[in-house]
Amino acid sequence: MTKSDISDIKQLLSNPKQIVIVPHKNPDGDAIGSSLALYHYLIAKDHKVTVIAPNDYPEFLKWIPGESNIIIHEVETEKANTLIAQAELIFTLDFNALHRTGAMEHPLSQAKATKILIDHHQQPDNYAKYIYSDVTICSTCQMVYHFFEMLDDKKSINSKIATCLYVGIMTDTGSFRFSSTTATTHRVIADLIDKGAVNAEIHNQVYDNNSYDRLQLLGVALNNLKVVPDLNTAYISLSQRELNKHNFTKGDTEGVVNYGLSIKGVKFAAIFIEHKQEGIIKISLRSKHNFDVNEFAREHFEGGGHINAAGGRSNLSLSETITKFVSLLPQYKKALKE
Ligand code: 5GP
Ligand code: MN
Repeated sequence: MTKSDISDIKQLLSNPKQIVIVPHKNPDGDAIGSSLALYHYLIAKDHKVTVIAPNDYPEFLKWIPGESNIIIHEVETEKANTLIAQAELIFTLDFNALHRTGAMEHPLSQAKATKILIDHHQQPDNYAKYIYSDVTICSTCQMVYHFFEMLDDKKSINSKIATCLYVGIMTDTGSFRFSSTTATTHRVIADLIDKGAVNAEIHNQVYDNNSYDRLQLLGVALNNLKVVPDLNTAYISLSQRELNKHNFTKGDTEGVVNYGLSIKGVKFAAIFIEHKQEGIIKISLRSKHNFDVNEFAREHFEGGGHINAAGGRSNLSLSETITKFVSLLPQYKKALKE
């Protein structure tokens, strides 16, 4: 983002506007955290602001300040589309292409509002007038903090904003342990704690609110874990039947893919989750070091993301998807053995 972009944006925000903020479909802690942080920031400046999420978000995020004001496009489609059409400014957060918003792609592409993209995923599309893209930063929440910094307005970060930003940085860094976590990340986090984010309480809200069913489902997932030792790969599958048996709700499988990656020597981990209703297998991919799962997801599973964390989908059956995945591995032997 250039100096002139920043001065344009300062000008745009200098008088009250109708603003819509959009996270990606199946929003995670970073998408919801960054959207709500920006929401609190902008309403304090007298803008009329709505966060519109494409669909619902996990239970473990249903305490974040302001979350009850989020409009779900899938539920209130007409109202959401009207707000999008009337908006003067649209912020799109934590995604790199409009199709990542599912059914919101069309209304967003038709909207006459000035669009501002803030995101840390690889290869952003060019749909926004103002683009703040940085794939080296751990989370969109950290970028929103830097955005306030660029606006010379860190002083406006109150405890609600600090809490929202803390959530996204914490969840996207695996609680500050992934390699994307830098000294700057820790400095930002320290400042957010100074500004009122209660760190132990936030960890408790997000990670220590498990249901018994969720842990039982984790047990099934760990039982289903397979390892391909020659290729340093591990994968997990969960069928719709297994999900139903343990009363699956959104968010229950969040983070499960990381167990594969925790096995000694494993460099590449995947989870395949059957979604009977949508007729797809949702895939999450994770890696260590330089094995590029963004490229792997783009190439084979209509997805994308980051070098070490990406997602995608398959229209094959669960077992066919796994067969396809396993049969692809040998061509990556060199990268996986390095
Ligand atoms: P997850 O596996 O947690 O759903 O996603 C991992 C990362 O990849 C996240 O940053 C997410 O936004 C991104 N991602 C997940 N699914 C897709 C997809 O279908 N397409 C693209 N481009 N990115 C995805
Ligand atoms: Mn993110």
